[in-house]
Amino acid sequence: MTSMQFDPIRLPPHAQQLRGEVRAFIKEQLDAGAFDPNRIAAYAGYNPEFSRQVGAKGWIGMTWPKQYGGHERSFLERYVVTEEFRVANAPVGLHFTADRQSGPVLLKYAPEHIKRDILPRIARGECCFCIGMSEPNSGSDLFAANARAVKVDAGFLLRGSKIWTTGAHHADYMIGLFRTSPATADNRRHGLTQFLVDMKSPGITVNPIANLLGQHEFNEVVFDDAPVPAANMLGQIDMAWKQATSELAYERSGPERFLEISFVLFDLLRVLGPTPDVRATEGVGRLVAQLHALRRMSVSVNGMLQAGKEPTLEGAIVKDLGTVWQQALPHKARDLAAFASGADTERAEFDRKLAHAIAIAPKLTIQGGASEVLRGIIARGLGLR
Ligand SMILES: Cc1cc2nc3c(=O)[nH]c(=O)nc-3n(C[C@H](O)[C@H](O)[C@H](O)COP(=O)(O)OP(=O)(O)OC[C@H]3O[C@@H](n4cnc5c(N)ncnc54)[C@H](O)[C@@H]3O)c2cc1C
Repeated sequence: MTSMQFDPIRLPPHAQQLRGEVRAFIKEQLDAGAFDPNRIAAYAGYNPEFSRQVGAKGWIGMTWPKQYGGHERSFLERYVVTEEFRVANAPVGLHFTADRQSGPVLLKYAPEHIKRDILPRIARGECCFCIGMSEPNSGSDLFAANARAVKVDAGFLLRGSKIWTTGAHHADYMIGLFRTSPATADNRRHGLTQFLVDMKSPGITVNPIANLLGQHEFNEVVFDDAPVPAANMLGQIDMAWKQATSELAYERSGPERFLEISFVLFDLLRVLGPTPDVRATEGVGRLVAQLHALRRMSVSVNGMLQAGKEPTLEGAIVKDLGTVWQQALPHKARDLAAFASGADTERAEFDRKLAHAIAIAPKLTIQGGASEVLRGIIARGLGLR
């Protein structure tokens, strides 16, 4: 029977120094009016100038080899940067997806000339990526994907559509999953291939989909015989099922999975004031203890990635627990705010952000893998099914 393993990893001392540097940078940016920390949007803000400055600091592609514009630093250092930007509500929308998962996929599977061209641009904060996995009839069941890549002399033609594609309206490239052959009788996962798709190619239409708040976060992307060169195929033809699932370990393990609406907790503390009621103190104590445990687990997963392990099971556990914790947070915070003694203006700001958090909370347990599906992965990882 398999067991889960959270190695007892702590952030190294030099990560603390880096944290100071990131905080100083954020303060400079805030003083210069580069972004509004109280602006709440479903999709982490898209801000080319901010991303370029983060790139110049060396905080994109931190773990990648220097020959591709990376900085050969550790996953734990990258963790600190992600954490600080997320808590500050920094506008990382342009580079975040490319930094977290598209870059690592290219590093592993792209031909050399593509790596040399695109990875340095990502690291400079100049290149935005989106993820083309989900389709109208294929979400949790990724391997039912039906959008096709049809072989022609010059490469492939893409046909079909992707849905819920976050940030496709800004993206320069998509890493997309397309069907190149039918599934086989003994392996229904067979027949899918990953491609690097230039979003400016002819035959691609991006249609906005409004989220619950009417905001433009994700899209439908329609492919009408969009050409893609053969060199843009990532990894082996028909074998993407192996690649796409390891990409998800990166997608699920980061602190963004429990910090997306953590502002609710920090604003609650402000509203409760320095000497909260004993019931509020107890409630906040529970929330903070749970957050602390989640963070220890998430740091551990990142330490294991650093050690070259594949903590797929542990990443799924962090994602599931983290999003369930976040989904419950606004409701607990609303109850605890009843004990507030803070000023009316603080309370009004808290209520405004709380309303937003409640409206976006349903998506938290769906994006990046629905909870029920993650629990299936966890059960399998533990040898229970
Ligand atoms: C905000 C947001 C951003 C997103 N961004 C992207 C993106 O950039 N790129 C991308 O490709 N996708 C993206 N997605 C899509 C997301 O990955 C899918 O919505 C998700 O995988 C679920 O798929 P589905 O919507 O088709 O639901 P379904 O798969 O149809 O699931 C419906 C319900 O059935 C349950 N269910 C399904 N299968 C099982 C099972 N085997 N066992 C138990 N229960 C099951 C699910 O848990 C869920 O409750 C995004 C989604 C959201 C909400």
